[in-house]
Amino acid sequence: MDRTLEDRVAAAVRSWGRWVPRWQPGDSRARTRPCRLCLGSPLLRHAGLDADVPHAVGHALATRLKRITDAEVASYTDRNLPTLSAELSHAEDRARVAYRPQEGLDPEFEGLPLDPEPEPGAPFLFTIEGLARQSARDVPAPPPLSEEAKAALRTEIRLADECGQHATTLISRALDGHQQEIRGVLARYVEPQVQALLADLQRELDFPPLSG
Ligand SMILES: [Zn+2]
Repeated sequence: MDRTLEDRVAAAVRSWGRWVPRWQPGDSRARTRPCRLCLGSPLLRHAGLDADVPHAVGHALATRLKRITDAEVASYTDRNLPTLSAELSHAEDRARVAYRPQEGLDPEFEGLPLDPEPEPGAPFLFTIEGLARQSARDVPAPPPLSEEAKAALRTEIRLADECGQHATTLISRALDGHQQEIRGVLARYVEPQVQALLADLQRELDFPPLSG
């Protein structure tokens, strides 16, 4: 488990490359909200996946890279940030009891909306997000923090954030060495499907199906 960050980035790109051939343009639901993980992501920019690439394709790499950043921050927090560590393990204890539908998903689905877009005038009886919120409310809140602990927590959150930014910089640098591999995957599996889709659209415009 002592692999370098470069090794983990290489493995993430390989795993993404194994997934892409299974991607199809119709697989992903249309979104009306921008994706917080992908929008303006410096990692997707370094990967060359920030423009003219279907969202699902970029998202599948963004989630794999986010797992690397998260693991870096978690290990730094464990080793160096005792107050934040304690807070997180409290939060984890509470969350263990709650329903967490976002966890354990394949990276392709992580961070995507759990429920379909609501339609005006047609409310759902229940939504997965609603169920998760409900079950989180059933768990009691932890005891309040002292002022010193709050100050320590603020400092440690800032340090954890800096660690995340540092990891993002290192991952970006590592990605530069994989741009050719990523372009190859796009050219082989994604572009032909996008071209076929555009050609279909063009045919429909030229020869609209007869109605009636
Ligand atoms: Zn996304």
